[in-house]
Amino acid sequence: MTDNDPIALPEEAAPPYAASCQLCELANQRARVIWGEGNPEGRVIMLLDNPGAREDREGRAFVCGTRATLQLGAAEAGLDMNDVYVTYVLKCRPIRKYDKEAARNSCRAHLLSQLELNRPKLMICLGNVAVQAFFQDPEAEVKRLRGSWYDIGGLPTTVSYHPLAVRRRPGLMRLFVEDLKRVAVRSAEAVTEASAPSDGPRSEKGS
Ligand code: SF4
Repeated sequence: MTDNDPIALPEEAAPPYAASCQLCELANQRARVIWGEGNPEGRVIMLLDNPGAREDREGRAFVCGTRATLQLGAAEAGLDMNDVYVTYVLKCRPIRKYDKEAARNSCRAHLLSQLELNRPKLMICLGNVAVQAFFQDPEAEVKRLRGSWYDIGGLPTTVSYHPLAVRRRPGLMRLFVEDLKRVAVRSAEAVTEASAPSDGPRSEKGS
């Protein structure tokens, strides 16, 4: 795959109760609530920080630098994007200064409802903002945490760099692919386990 042939993942509309969400001050900055894109029933959920200007404006699927880099890495890693759902810590695009902690705390309810409804098997947080928000640790960093799995609220979770950081620093691509490969392997294991006979032998997985 090259930058010229990534796919435009279909956007999932926000449910009616969230489309007019007023839980934080970003309600006054956004053009619309952006819920996520890709396969809501996919085994893998990817978490980014917040939507960009174009998502805020448009309601149709498109490919930007973040998506192209993400998909390039996924293709290299053997991770099937048809099995992936992508969403955000904040479902609204900030355009001015705002209370970050309050917004992240408010919008967490939406993320938790997505996890509850879609029941993904694995999470990968991309970039420090996503990692800090999902781990609820302001000191958490991709650099320190990448390479391992963590149990966050019962969901096996790993981390990697934000695709835009990878785009700006191509030297990160090798690590990014390594991280996505870890997700692809574990996702394949989840399929094997799901199809194994219930009384058959099971392998133990560490982090
Ligand atoms: S960022 Fe989240 S909590 Fe804040 S208004 Fe948007 S959807 Fe609601």
